[in-house]
Amino acid sequence: MNEDGGMGGHGGEDTHGDATHPSAIAPDRDALLLDAMLGNLASYLRMCGYDAAYAPDRGVEDDTAIRSLAAAEGRRLITRDRSLAASTPGAVLLTERETTDQLRELHEAGVALEIEAQPSRCGACNGPVERVDVDEDENEERPEYAPDEGPIWRCLVCDQHFWTGSHWDDVAETLASL
Ligand SMILES: [Zn+2]
Repeated sequence: MNEDGGMGGHGGEDTHGDATHPSAIAPDRDALLLDAMLGNLASYLRMCGYDAAYAPDRGVEDDTAIRSLAAAEGRRLITRDRSLAASTPGAVLLTERETTDQLRELHEAGVALEIEAQPSRCGACNGPVERVDVDEDENEERPEYAPDEGPIWRCLVCDQHFWTGSHWDDVAETLASL
């Protein structure tokens, strides 16, 4: 929010319309495509509400296929591959290997990283999740490993269940410390 472009030119903070500027990336505007080896990062981004596709999950590997998918679905590529980043419009290049360091790099590049109040994306597969009322609906059962209380969500694609337990708090803390 307080990011200052710093390159002179327009004094305003409105970067609207500048699709290739790396700052001001937010889940309500930007869909993402994560390159191979960035699967862990993808799940963090999904917890922040991003529509974050993971290239290997989508069956794309080579640079041409990745560029085509990004263009076809309007996704911004995040990659550690320098030449791929350079040849893909709007791509964000990462240099770090550890997920927390990569999150910091994204944060510094102006990517909004704030955990959602409630999950909307499956961390595992990027599918949409829905709230399940395990206490009211007799067809629903609270998963054995879930906490005894609190809301439960289910992925509409892979059927995995979610809740905002200690892992959620850990992620929130990690993001707050960037
Ligand atoms: Zn899923």
